[in-house]
Amino acid sequence: MTRIVIIGGGPGGYEAALVAAQLGAEVTVVDRDGLGGASVLTDCVPSKTLIATAEVMTTFDSSHAELGIVLDGGREAGGDPGGNRRRMIGADLGKVNRRVKRLALAQSHDITASVTRAGVRVLRGRGRLEPDQAPDGSRRVTVADLEGESRELVADAVLVATGGHPRELADARPDGERILNWTQVYDMEELPEELIVVGSGVTGAEFAGAYQALGSRVTLISSRDRVLPGEDPDAAAVLEDVFRRRGMNVMARSRAAAAKRVSDGADGDRVEVTLSDGRTISGTHCLMAVGAVPNTADMGLEEAGVRLRDSGHIVTDRVSRTTAPGVYAAGDCTGVFALASVAAMQGRIAMYHFLGDTVAPLDLTTVSANIFTDPEIATIGRTQADVDEGRIDARVVKLPLLRNARAKMQGIRDGFVKLICRQGTGIVVGGVVVAPRASELIHPISVAVDNGLTVDQIAKAFTVYPSLSGSIAEAARQLQARHRAEGR
Ligand SMILES: Cc1cc2nc3c(=O)[nH]c(=O)nc-3n(C[C@H](O)[C@H](O)[C@H](O)COP(=O)(O)OP(=O)(O)OC[C@H]3O[C@@H](n4cnc5c(N)ncnc54)[C@H](O)[C@@H]3O)c2cc1C
Repeated sequence: MTRIVIIGGGPGGYEAALVAAQLGAEVTVVDRDGLGGASVLTDCVPSKTLIATAEVMTTFDSSHAELGIVLDGGREAGGDPGGNRRRMIGADLGKVNRRVKRLALAQSHDITASVTRAGVRVLRGRGRLEPDQAPDGSRRVTVADLEGESRELVADAVLVATGGHPRELADARPDGERILNWTQVYDMEELPEELIVVGSGVTGAEFAGAYQALGSRVTLISSRDRVLPGEDPDAAAVLEDVFRRRGMNVMARSRAAAAKRVSDGADGDRVEVTLSDGRTISGTHCLMAVGAVPNTADMGLEEAGVRLRDSGHIVTDRVSRTTAPGVYAAGDCTGVFALASVAAMQGRIAMYHFLGDTVAPLDLTTVSANIFTDPEIATIGRTQADVDEGRIDARVVKLPLLRNARAKMQGIRDGFVKLICRQGTGIVVGGVVVAPRASELIHPISVAVDNGLTVDQIAKAFTVYPSLSGSIAEAARQLQARHRAEGR
């Protein structure tokens, strides 16, 4: 029986384990912290659970007055766009966080149960790759369990799927109380009064939006010109505008150099963030969201012939092979795309490849992703930058939701649908949806991109009236009309 050892039980690891077991291999997963990995225990699942509460509060705050909702006693509730919040609803953060942690643990248990049911052996401990490959091609992995006992496993192939951890700045080390990283926020019992979020990438933007919705006064520090650098610029502009309108202090071109706790006697503990130009910002709490570092150190990887980039990420090819024979890698430790779905795909591909099943190499042009802010930003496939920078010859149409009948009924003003199709063929190659629950609306565009559908095909499919997805069909019709006008 082919022996597979997987180091790391996040989506990259456990999804690979399920596939390998299905294909008849003898599979062992070694994990330090619990199955589901950081994705389930500290990152994706907890943040989205917190955001579920924030989402309800935003929806209520931003549209109830317009929709004519009054609270008991006839009072109108809610915030005002200037940020002087007059709120009738609030969040019990201790309760929210207990729910978050309960749900994450339950999810980890569910994954452990289904992986074990599939016949996979799960070992709790820290895995390390031994340097030599045996003449028969096998590899050895040493597992140190939580009590420090170690044992050796022999594998015909090893998958490294060890994920990453939050990057720290030397002068802004989290203390877990006032200066926090994203894994530590769920221990808070009280809502931070004034939260400084350092970093305006996806993680920083999601937490800044969530805590603002929950009731914190938020300052978002961005080292770049705008929030969400690297994302669709139109989508980032909508989000930044919404953040500012709701009262967030968004500081562009501001690089945080240090964060420290200060005590001024009167107010008690506070945090002071110093920017590289010397300015200081004060708040009650600070959340550091300045990227992640792969968990690839001290694992014997380079000694075993696994090439790492300067960043520490493992170099892989499109079927997840590393530079060491018999060693594959998947997920955040490869730095390919920090998404649970991509980690899982890389892990499955590794197993299909090693176990001789049909395998399609990883294709990043069909990845769909979502930023869970309000509004959400969902993307699929080729981007506006691909068009603007001449990497593809394509047409783009962007339709604001303001013109959508359902959006008007629901009081939705911010957001748009963008569709990208190839010149000549009209094949849909990408799209962006900025809307509440954009994560649910992007799927028809994903299906189109994955199957090479044309704008004509999208345009002629029925949509429900009234519906936000009607704007996707409308965007397709506009592209179709342009196509016709230009004689294809
Ligand atoms: C705040 C936040 C929110 C996110 N939200 C989303 C989202 O909404 N959607 C999405 O698709 N992605 C999201 N992501 C990204 C997603 O969490 C990661 O892409 C995903 O976790 C990667 O999975 P992985 O299998 O590579 O590693 P992980 O999930 O990081 O799992 C790695 C596992 O390996 C273990 N490990 C590490 N070293 C060893 C060792 N030597 N021996 C044994 N075990 C080891 C770790 O303990 C961990 O359990 C988010 C990330 C963050 C930070």
